Amino acid sequence: MRTESNHPTTLVPPLHGEGRGPHAVDPLDEVRDLVRACMQCGTCTASCPNAASMDLTPRQMWRSLLFGFTDEVLRSKTFWMCSACYTCTLRCPRGLQLTRAMAALKRLAAQHGPGAARRKGIFYQAFIDNVHKYGRVQEMDLMFHYFMAMRDPLLPLRFTPVGMKLLAKGKLHAPDGRHKGVLDDLFTRVRELEGNP
Ligand code: SF4
Ligand code: SF4
Repeated sequence: MRTESNHPTTLVPPLHGEGRGPHAVDPLDEVRDLVRACMQCGTCTASCPNAASMDLTPRQMWRSLLFGFTDEVLRSKTFWMCSACYTCTLRCPRGLQLTRAMAALKRLAAQHGPGAARRKGIFYQAFIDNVHKYGRVQEMDLMFHYFMAMRDPLLPLRFTPVGMKLLAKGKLHAPDGRHKGVLDDLFTRVRELEGNP
């Protein structure tokens, strides 16, 4: 388990929205509402199987959010490491929807974060579109659509070495339609639950 420091509580918190202009709307306000009742007990961090791979533990993430460290939060890799296991949500003594907060941070970082976060968001979208379309991951089609969305002609070259290794190990599969549509009901249900039918 990751050892927690007092970061960022030792820092002087910036004024809310500092650096974004006096009338700027902070894109993270909707997530702050989800964690406003956090009492910093650390149960979420102690329960998280991925905390050791995070630059801010879950507890630190909620603290950073509530202190208005918007840019630091958007730059963090913490929510990208969240595997949505729901352990923190189940164990939080305040009953906070922490997994939902992590998912919202992924979405908001992809929209408002630095370039690296936006690139991760594009990959996530390509991945989920691929799984929805084929019913399982079809690696070649996934990477094709990722490269097209990124609009960087040199990007495929950077992936060539790892692609060759995967090909040699038989880990790359050409798209096939055997499982097409098997996840349609699941995706429809998720859209309904998210209020986006
Ligand atoms: S378990 Fe809940 S109350 Fe405790 S630190 Fe995490 S979010 Fe806050
Ligand atoms: S849902 Fe995410 S943040 Fe919460 S315990 Fe699981 S991996 Fe950690």
